[in-house]
Amino acid sequence: MENDDVFKLVLHPNPSLREKLIEEVHWVTDEHRAIAQKMLRTMYKSRGIGLSAPQVGLTLRLIVVDIGNNPLIMFNPFITQWLPKKEISPEGCLSFPKLHKLVERKKSILVRYRDENNIVHELQFDDLEARVIQHEIDHLNGVLMTDYNHAGKRRG
Ligand SMILES: [Zn+2]
Repeated sequence: MENDDVFKLVLHPNPSLREKLIEEVHWVTDEHRAIAQKMLRTMYKSRGIGLSAPQVGLTLRLIVVDIGNNPLIMFNPFITQWLPKKEISPEGCLSFPKLHKLVERKKSILVRYRDENNIVHELQFDDLEARVIQHEIDHLNGVLMTDYNHAGKRRG
């Protein structure tokens, strides 16, 4: 497999970005691992720090994140606890190439997920890493950063 093998990004307003995905990965296979690695290559090539499966046209609950310290591959990521502190900060999105948007996020969260070796973790993430994870989990639920108003609050 060539190392520059990447996915084509799904861009707004493609309706597949609005799907609420329910396809959990109960057991991670070699095929899932290959998809996750290809998503990471796609993300690095586009200089992103997070990418979700729907952004590459896949209906899996899978996100990849790398804010510069180490790559995280998260199957079925689920926020089990939101810590109270919030922060409003601008975000970008590989599906909205030119847009930056203020979004209010929790500064710290606890996330349960299955890693690429089928180990289930529940870990705390903070600051930028927590923000990216919240952004990518939104994608798995069909939620986009444009669903937040100018003050960074979720509409509706
Ligand atoms: Zn995004």
